[in-house]
Amino acid sequence: MLATQDVCAISATDSTDEDLRERLIRKRHVIDLMELSFAQEAAEFAATNEYDEDGFVSPIDWIRINCHMTGPAAADRVAVGQRFMELERTVEARAYGQVGFAHLTVMVRTADAIGTGFNEAALLEKARENSPGKFHHICRHYRHAADPKGYASEQAEQVESRRLSLSTWEDGSLLLNGVLDSVGGAALRTALEPLARKSGAHDDRDRERRLADALVELASGGEQRAQIQVTSSLETLLGLFGAPAAEMEFSLPVSSKTIERLACDCSITRVLLGSESTVIDVGRSKRVVSGPAGRALRARDGSCRWPGCDRPASWSAAHHVVHWIHGGTTDLENLVLLCHRHHWMVHEGNWQLVRGDEGRMLTIPPTVTFGPPARGPD
Ligand SMILES: [Zn+2]
Ligand SMILES: [Zn+2]
Repeated sequence: MLATQDVCAISATDSTDEDLRERLIRKRHVIDLMELSFAQEAAEFAATNEYDEDGFVSPIDWIRINCHMTGPAAADRVAVGQRFMELERTVEARAYGQVGFAHLTVMVRTADAIGTGFNEAALLEKARENSPGKFHHICRHYRHAADPKGYASEQAEQVESRRLSLSTWEDGSLLLNGVLDSVGGAALRTALEPLARKSGAHDDRDRERRLADALVELASGGEQRAQIQVTSSLETLLGLFGAPAAEMEFSLPVSSKTIERLACDCSITRVLLGSESTVIDVGRSKRVVSGPAGRALRARDGSCRWPGCDRPASWSAAHHVVHWIHGGTTDLENLVLLCHRHHWMVHEGNWQLVRGDEGRMLTIPPTVTFGPPARGPD
């Protein structure tokens, strides 16, 4: 299957006076050639039952384990090996470096899905003009146009493979692992992306960390605030030395700082225990920021009041400047809107938030820090 261009590509890889950019392109061309050769032999292997002799359930499974690949990557190679001979034009375009192995894979998968009526020439034009990712997108449209019913049932099948596992590590961290179908995934992305945006010019959290924060914010914020149930002693809530940690459903025992935050905007269903472990206060009380007071607060503050943050009011909580546990009132003067992250910084992060002249909020970083130095307000 070696075309003249391929032989030239291999022999030119060692040339040292070549521009680095040209070398990269050439090397990729050679790797693609090896991929094609690998695919051809993977398909030959899949036609035998040698995998069975080695105790594997399928040829793809054998390749996955023994060639150190992911399952989808192994399956792609077998599919390409089985079909590429029928896609002469695409194979030729690859030999000339007009498209890559990735394009060929998308082409083969599309041909597989459509069967008769597949128009290689029309799609090859698109492959030449577009990156593999974009071409994949175009092929999805092409598949839908050619077979709407098949496409719909494929999507329905995708929904069936949805799953989400939540496993708790020994230190209480939660490991999330799962797959959502395309539409469900989009719904989640739509909810998360706005929350995962940087919250100011100095926000130096990387994207993964911002997404993690966004997921927690989504679960604990918004109009439909989840009701968290906690069990805490009064001593814990006051942060007294010697007090036990508080209990929260699905979590390891939580610190008094966290309980202080959760109790601050009363988003929890409080279950406070007195010294004799009797329930002394169940459910919400007058400390709740009532409907009219909440509306007035949202109208006054508009968004999170942390300097430089513009998280909207609907994603912010009412923070008591002087906590009600220390006698602070639930009047407008003692309340300020804070987004999830900044509310966390005030309570668990030990930042201070004080009202300055003309109602402007000022932030004071924690004075004693353990671990990395305090960051600027963002
Ligand atoms: Zn608070
Ligand atoms: Zn904020």
